[in-house]
Amino acid sequence: MNQELLKRAAPGVLSLEAYSPGMPIEELQRRLGVSNAIKLASNENPLGCSPRVREALLEALQNDDLARYPDGGGYRLKARIAKLHGIDASRITLGNGSNDIIELLGRVFLGPDRAALFSAHAFAVYPIITQAQSARAVVAPPRAADDAQPYGHDLQAFAELLAGNDDISLVFIANPNNPTGTWLGQAEIENFLRQVPAHVIVALDEAYFEYTDPALRFDVRPMLDRYPNLVVFRTFSKAYGLASLRVGYSLSSPEIADLLNRVRQPFNNNSLALRAAEVALDDQDFVARSVELNTGERARLTGILGEMGLTVLPSQANFLAIGFGRDAKPVHQGLLEQGIIVRPVASYDLPEFVRVSIGTEAENSRFVAALRTVLGS
Ligand SMILES: *Cc1c(COP(=O)(O)O)cnc(C)c1O
Repeated sequence: MNQELLKRAAPGVLSLEAYSPGMPIEELQRRLGVSNAIKLASNENPLGCSPRVREALLEALQNDDLARYPDGGGYRLKARIAKLHGIDASRITLGNGSNDIIELLGRVFLGPDRAALFSAHAFAVYPIITQAQSARAVVAPPRAADDAQPYGHDLQAFAELLAGNDDISLVFIANPNNPTGTWLGQAEIENFLRQVPAHVIVALDEAYFEYTDPALRFDVRPMLDRYPNLVVFRTFSKAYGLASLRVGYSLSSPEIADLLNRVRQPFNNNSLALRAAEVALDDQDFVARSVELNTGERARLTGILGEMGLTVLPSQANFLAIGFGRDAKPVHQGLLEQGIIVRPVASYDLPEFVRVSIGTEAENSRFVAALRTVLGS
């Protein structure tokens, strides 16, 4: 390949490393010849999705004209999201997963003379989009390992960095955060928002909102009205169990939604995904069952792992970060050999941890048994 040609890639892209996803089950089975492997690596819903979604998709396959472009405006899905949040549809932007929303925010608000602010140990896609836009990354130091929110977001540090770096145009906050599972309360977030200059966008990533303790949840609607620079985004990939269909959305001012819409692919959600998300929103019983399973199993697993002498970061999400006090690579490898896929988080600068998604009771028990074997305990 012509080296001159490759060097013409955008400067940020040249030095970028591609996102490495959790290993698919098939790949492990191919690589190690193990059968009945389980994947606890990508925070997917172990119950799948609502049975009503499955029915609706089968019906859509029978009746829909797949040769037609989907509704690029997502009218029906937006109407349902608008109702859920009591917000005008003009304030909703649909994404091909919330990953797409992060990318749209980057394309609109980042560039060579801009910076994005996010925490150490935060979601990997924030630094990727920042660098892809050839923007500068300002990384806030995490909270201490012995803090009540170990390795979590330190919004005080965020505020100080904001005051000292005029080029920051976009701030990412993950609540709860992936891969730590740590969270922030409404008062902390509001206190931070009050200190943010009105021209800086704050992007609040609520991918795991549904899994948080009801006492910690808050309605973002009034906050969006008070802070027109706030963008909140959610996904159908986690509690709604639709990761493969790729639907997420943001809530913002109509003006920001309009900016995002200018760079959005015209048909970024396919017709089946749009339909699935509509039906998924209508089946809140399924979400409640998923959350109930997760809450119970998260507590059970936290207890067992604690008794095994392991470090478990407190989590309000559907995964746990488990620390071994030494390089976690051999543990990850050992678990693979037992047919269990978890997520190493060395790339998140947490080399002594793995992240395990909460599965069904049977999956979690298999994980614990495999972990005991690997650790020889
Ligand atoms: C999983 C996840 C997302 C969403 O991913 P999509 O499938 O693209 O919606 C967003 N933010 C965080 C922190 C996540 O962990």
